[in-house]
Order: sequence, then structure tokens, then C-alpha cells
Amino acid sequence: MFEPGVMFWAERDDLEMVRSLGVRYGQMGIPGSMRLTGAVAAQWKAALEAAGLTLVTVFAAYEGEDYADIPAVARTVGFVPEKTRAVRLARTLAVSDFAAQLGVGSIACHIGFVPEDAGHADYVAVREMVRTVSDHAARHGQSFALETGQEPARVLLGFMGDVDRRNLRINFDPANLILYGTGEPIAALETLAPLVISVHCKDGDWPAPGVHGALGVERPLGEGSVGIGRFVETLRKLGFRGPLNVERETEDQRERFRDLAGGVRLLRALARP
Ligand code: MG
Repeated sequence: MFEPGVMFWAERDDLEMVRSLGVRYGQMGIPGSMRLTGAVAAQWKAALEAAGLTLVTVFAAYEGEDYADIPAVARTVGFVPEKTRAVRLARTLAVSDFAAQLGVGSIACHIGFVPEDAGHADYVAVREMVRTVSDHAARHGQSFALETGQEPARVLLGFMGDVDRRNLRINFDPANLILYGTGEPIAALETLAPLVISVHCKDGDWPAPGVHGALGVERPLGEGSVGIGRFVETLRKLGFRGPLNVERETEDQRERFRDLAGGVRLLRALARP
């Protein structure tokens, strides 16, 4: 399984285009507005089988999230915003049920910026939510993976230790550490390695110095500051065996698929034994 995979989105991406990338593995994102019924799950299961795609992760996203800059992320993303917690908890449990219907053994999401202060009310509330989701996922035999990058590796590690659930894992995205300016990705990977269950292969450049709240800029794989060759080599050295899921989030779909295809080619070369 140490081979290219793809991170794609249900409803947004044409499955035929995903299939044309020539990969066998993927991670599917579920938009916050998507209806999750048994019938929809059955349709997806059949479509994925017909496309020859095996999902390793189902990702939850939520209505009202905004990734424009760091303050927008802090205000709108994941489990941190208080007003949407109950709705997003219910949604995440529904995504876990949906993934179980597809036979997928891992769910994931961005939980938002975890406060560093373990006594903060938001920290306590988010910790309880993560426990609830982990326990629900465990009943389906699933892991629950947190996406990296919105906090430094040591903060994430401390938080996860505090949550204290065996099926709580990490989806490691090296570019996010750069885009959010939270740390050097290879060092973070080495710190978090025992908990990494899946990865995104995404690239990007650091935020411009002196611009408060700005995110860095995502780049096509191999063209940013991650050092994707070193990233893949470090994964190999650490014994990671899962697919290398290329991720590219850009508005223009044509550009996006061109870059996903380029990423798959690059990873195919890098992952060679
Ligand atoms: Mg990612």
C-alpha cells in the first residue's frame, strides 16, 4: 500500500476523473451539506467498487467553515466554535455511521485550533467531544484521526494523551504545518509517528513574514517547502505502510486535477522500492 492515493470530495469531484488518476486507494471527504442516508451509502459503495477504489478514510467537514485566514479558521473550523458544537458532534457521528456502511475503518476531521491551556473551557469541551467521537467510532471498529497542522506537534500530542483513547490517531498533513506556521513538518512527523494512521501529501510555502493572521500558500506537490522527497523517505524509514494520498485544494477544478495527476506521478516515482 506504499503507493499513491488521492484525497477527493464526494459530490464535488467526478468519480470518473478520480479514477482516471490511476490510483487504487483514496480518502473521501464528505461536504457538510451532503445527505447521509443508507441509500446514499449503498450508491457510493457500488460506485467506489466499480471504480476500483478502496477508501482508507472518510473525512468529515462542516457547514459554515471558512479557511480564508487564521482568524477565520479559529472562528469557524471544527469542534472549537461553541455555537455549532452540538450540530457538528451529531454530524461527525453520522459520518462515522456512513463510513461503517461503506466498510471504511477510519474517519477524520479538522477539530480546529486546540487551545494550549488545558484548563480553558474550550479545551475541556473539545476534549469531551473527541472522546465521544472516538468511542462511537470504536464501536464500528474505526479509528478517529485528527488532521495535523493547526497546532504544533507537541500541543497535539499533549491533547491526544489527555483524551486517552486507543483508537485516536493522526492524519498527518505536512503542508499544514507550513501553511499555519506551526513547525517543520519532518521533525513533527518524527514526533507524531506512532500515532499516524494516514497521510496527506500536500505542499505549500510558509506565511509571509509580518502579515498577521495570514496563512501560507498551497503549492502543487513538489513545488513548495515541504521537501516531499524527504517526507516520503521519512515515512518509509518509520515503517509507514499506508497509501500516500495526494491532496490539492484549489478552486479551479481543471488546475486541481492537473496538479493531482502530477502529484500521483511524483509519488509513484518516490515510492518505488
Ligand atoms: Mg490535509
